[in-house]
Amino acid sequence: MMTDPNELVRNAIRSVPDWPKEGVTFRDITPVLQDPRSFRALIDIFVYRYMRQRMDLVAGVDARGFIIGSVLAYELNLGFVPVRKSGKLPFNTVAEEYKLEYGNASVEMHTDAVLPGQRVLLVDDLIATGGTMVAASRLLQRLGANVVEAAAIIDLPDLGGSRLIRESGLPVFTVCKF
Ligand code: AMP
Repeated sequence: MMTDPNELVRNAIRSVPDWPKEGVTFRDITPVLQDPRSFRALIDIFVYRYMRQRMDLVAGVDARGFIIGSVLAYELNLGFVPVRKSGKLPFNTVAEEYKLEYGNASVEMHTDAVLPGQRVLLVDDLIATGGTMVAASRLLQRLGANVVEAAAIIDLPDLGGSRLIRESGLPVFTVCKF
């Protein structure tokens, strides 16, 4: 019997209790990438979803969004741009701050990463509170991008992030939920 690709991906995700701190269950995608069957299933799920949509760029969020996003961009014959944590990009940058549980974080992009009007698919591994995706999407919009969808492997719906992103006007697609 053929295994459902979404189940194949979900079953390969490793849940690590109390990491990086007590009370947090870290959803580790490295086993998904390590196994060629689940890695291919994962990329194919995204490719089938986006192959008939007109898109110009994939923007991947630091750091696991780079892995998924760049392979997806290659498969869809699109360019790839990184949304980085601050202080990493060498050229002129724009930044967007967002709130963490304790303190603030920010994401940065090169000012010339996107041309006004380009249709961009935003990709990360996981949506928790949604803060990262919302900040990345705002940053892309400030550069003039038309952000088409936020795509991730994992949604943690109890944390409300995917709802928050949808309420900000951006559609969300995820492969599985925990
Ligand atoms: P958030 O901004 O709260 O939606 O958090 C999403 C970002 O934090 C993503 O880049 C994830 O890689 C990371 N992250 C947050 N919570 C987890 C978790 N439980 N397991 C793995 N990564 C997480």
